Parts: sequence; structure tokens; C-alpha cells
Amino acid sequence: MPVMHPTTIAEATAMLADHPTAMLLAGGTDAMVEINDGHRRPADSVVVVNRIADLRSWRHDPVANTLTVGAGVTYTELLREPIVSLVPALAEAARTVGSPQIRNAGTLGGNLGTSSPAGDGLPALAALDATITLASATGERSMAVTDFIVGVKRTAIDPGEMITEITMPVVTGWQGYAKVGVRNAMVIAVASVALVVDRDHERVAVALGSVGPTVLRCPEAEALLASSIDWATMAAPPDALDRFAAAVSAASQPITDHRSTAEYRRHAVGVLAKRLARRAGASS
Ligand SMILES: Cc1cc2nc3c(=O)[nH]c(=O)nc-3n(C[C@H](O)[C@H](O)[C@H](O)COP(=O)(O)OP(=O)(O)OC[C@H]3O[C@@H](n4cnc5c(N)ncnc54)[C@H](O)[C@@H]3O)c2cc1C
Repeated sequence: MPVMHPTTIAEATAMLADHPTAMLLAGGTDAMVEINDGHRRPADSVVVVNRIADLRSWRHDPVANTLTVGAGVTYTELLREPIVSLVPALAEAARTVGSPQIRNAGTLGGNLGTSSPAGDGLPALAALDATITLASATGERSMAVTDFIVGVKRTAIDPGEMITEITMPVVTGWQGYAKVGVRNAMVIAVASVALVVDRDHERVAVALGSVGPTVLRCPEAEALLASSIDWATMAAPPDALDRFAAAVSAASQPITDHRSTAEYRRHAVGVLAKRLARRAGASS
């Protein structure tokens, strides 16, 4: 089985063009587990992307006010400054992933490549309105993260394409991420919520994980909170946070599985969203 080690994106996409059924491998923390557990057949060839320097870098564009993170950036790297200050919701999500070993190897591109409903990076990226860039031997295209993830572990990636980078706006205002699982650490999310408060545009973004086939945005709950709070003080009328929590729960589409029940998940996203809103300073 050929195992290829490109050092540039151009080399990698040329290899993918020659081997369209090749498996991309970054940190291997999802792919190797799936192969070992028999959920995935070993590919006839592998393109290992972790020696591509451009995938492992990030840049802040202060004019466009965006942060662009290479697909090969690890969770450990997302926990360093200035990334933590620029996109705290993504950093908070990164902090909850696995163990130090998993955070050292696992990448944001791999989280997107798998697109598990429980992927911790995904709600943060969705709430931040992140855009994914895909490259192939014939060019590049970009799409919103919510268009990229099309179902349970299904994405809009075409054969011959790879994720190169993820771009998100740097938002002024509080943002964070919270999840519940069956224990406090080293845990796959049973329910998760990312909240981004955009003070400049007086907008709120909420995205949910583990309560639907894909990451879910909550337009009604977002509009409800944005229109309830006094943007100068973040004060909200009595019951506004409860109504916000109820709207978040109503937006969820949970199922019952071996980790939890649909009822618990629906309740949990409401509780998490209300807690995040309180942490954002909203009070009623
Ligand atoms: C013990 C353990 C604990 C874990 N805990 C968590 C957790 O708490 N939260 C969580 O979200 N995840 C968790 N995971 C899952 C995993 O660590 C993450 O999903 C991680 O982000 C995967 O990244 P990776 O670089 O290891 O991906 P890989 O395993 O290398 O690849 C994953 C998938 O993405 C594809 N891929 C990789 N790079 C690219 C690219 N550039 N373009 C297109 N496709 C690509 C691969 O082909 C593969 O299909 C855990 C895993 C383990 C083993």
C-alpha cells in the first residue's frame, strides 16, 4: 500500500488526483480508530498531510479582521495565544477534546473530515460562521461549515479534494463553548453548545452539537436573545433567558442512543445555552 508524504498542498492535491481513492491522514486519532475497530476498510493508498507546513500554520488578517487556521493545526496549537483571545469559543472547544495526547495529534481538519455530530470543533466553527477552503489539482473552492457537513459523518468534499484552511471572523464580544458527557473529562459530547455574541452588529449566534445529524444553528433562539437584551448593559427582561433556553431546546433534533436519551439531550442544550448566556453577561 503506497503511503505518500507530501510537503506542499500542490504535491498533496497532485497525489490525490493520481489516487482519487486515497485516504487522507492527519493526526490519525479518528481514522486509525475506525480502521482498528473495523468501521473503515484500510485504503489502497494513504496521503499523510502532517508534513505540509502550510496546513500547520495560521494567520490573523487585521484588515479583514479574520483568523485563518490551517487544516493541520492541532487542538494544542488552538490553545495558544493569540488564537485563544481571537476565537475563544474555538479554544474552549479545543480544551475539551480528549487528553493531552489526543490534543497534540488531533487536528481541526480531521474533526471536519470526520464530521461526527459530536465533533467538538464543529459547533464553535458554525457559531463563528467559519468558511472552509477545499483544494484539488484543478483549483480551490470555499463553503460555509454548515454547508460542508451534510449528514452524520458525511461532508460535501469531492474525491481528489482536501481541506486546506478554515477562516472565521474575529468577533467583538463574549463567546464560549460548553458540553456535557457521561463524565467530566476524556468524553465524547452528549450535548454541546457554542455561543458567540457579536456586540458590533448586535447579533447572537448559537450552534448545537450531538443533538442532530449535523451541527445545528438556532435562528429563532438567536433572534430572541438578540432582541431581548439591552446591548449596553446585557440586561434581559424577566424570563428572557428561560425563553431563550426553551427556543434552543426546540431547535434540537436529538435521538436516543447508547450515550443518552433524546429527552436528556433536548433539556441539556437548553441548560447549557442559558449558562453560556449568563457567562456572556446576560442577566434577567
Ligand atoms: C481517545 C480519543 C478521544 C477523543 N476525544 C474527542 C473529543 O473529546 N472531541 C472530539 O471532537 N473528538 C475527539 N476524538 C476524535 C478525534 O481526536 C478528532 O475528531 C480529531 O479532530 C481528528 O483529527 P485527526 O487529525 O486525528 O484526523 P484523522 O484521524 O487523521 O482524520 C479524520 C478524518 O478526516 C480526514 N482528513 C484529515 N485531514 C483532512 C484534510 N486536510 N482534508 C480532508 N479530510 C481530512 C481523514 O481522511 C479522516 O477521514 C477523540 C479520539 C480519540 C482516539
